[in-house]
Amino acid sequence: MKNISSKLLYHFLFLVFLACGSKQNTNHLSTTPSSAITFASQKQHEPAISEKKGLATQDSLYYESLHDTAMIELVRYDSDFILDIKYATADNFTKQVLYDCPRAFLRKKVAKDLLNAHKEFKKLGYKIKIFDGYRPHSIQFKMWDLTPDKRYVGNPHKGSMHNRGCAVDLTLVDKAGKDLDMGTVYDFFGEEAHITYTNLSAEVLKNRQLLKQVLERNGFRALQTEWWHFSYNRNVYSILNKPIPCKAEIREIK
Ligand SMILES: [Zn+2]
Repeated sequence: MKNISSKLLYHFLFLVFLACGSKQNTNHLSTTPSSAITFASQKQHEPAISEKKGLATQDSLYYESLHDTAMIELVRYDSDFILDIKYATADNFTKQVLYDCPRAFLRKKVAKDLLNAHKEFKKLGYKIKIFDGYRPHSIQFKMWDLTPDKRYVGNPHKGSMHNRGCAVDLTLVDKAGKDLDMGTVYDFFGEEAHITYTNLSAEVLKNRQLLKQVLERNGFRALQTEWWHFSYNRNVYSILNKPIPCKAEIREIK
């Protein structure tokens, strides 16, 4: 009796298993033998291609739950941002590596406006390349010690917009991955980098105008002395002195 019950139970469970499998994998079951059911079920648990690709897709849901003042990583919101974080290398005006890791963070509200600007640029066939975003306050003092010129480095005693997560240094890249010609390199300290300087080719002037127009339309303000620097126009947040984190699982700076 016990054996018969066990057998019946076994058959019942097997039928339930088949029924569940057929609901989840209708397409596979209609053309494959029953031996393939387990394989099909296992495959289903692999992440979809869009999940694998889209850090931004998954993380944007997480970021939606955060407060506007949260300092969040840009590429998690939009994986099309290109990073060239100069202060995480010695290829900058200080000739020193200042950041622990090449990552770009901004306040959530600032990041969202930059995201909107990026959408406009992408429609035109360009992508944003980021040179710098949030900059820890202590790094501002180091920069000031080396270049105490308020035209090019924000006075650390006041704190720069970068220290508040409200400024971004950037340029544009075309479909071939080439930087648009903006007339000077990043952190060029001279009048050729000023936005009022016009002794430049028509192409450079057009590129600079495009950068400025789209960013200003999305809530950013240009800086007179640096074509690459844009600060947030809508709000000011407090100064922060947390280092740029290296651990990938850290998604925001608190
Ligand atoms: Zn800047």
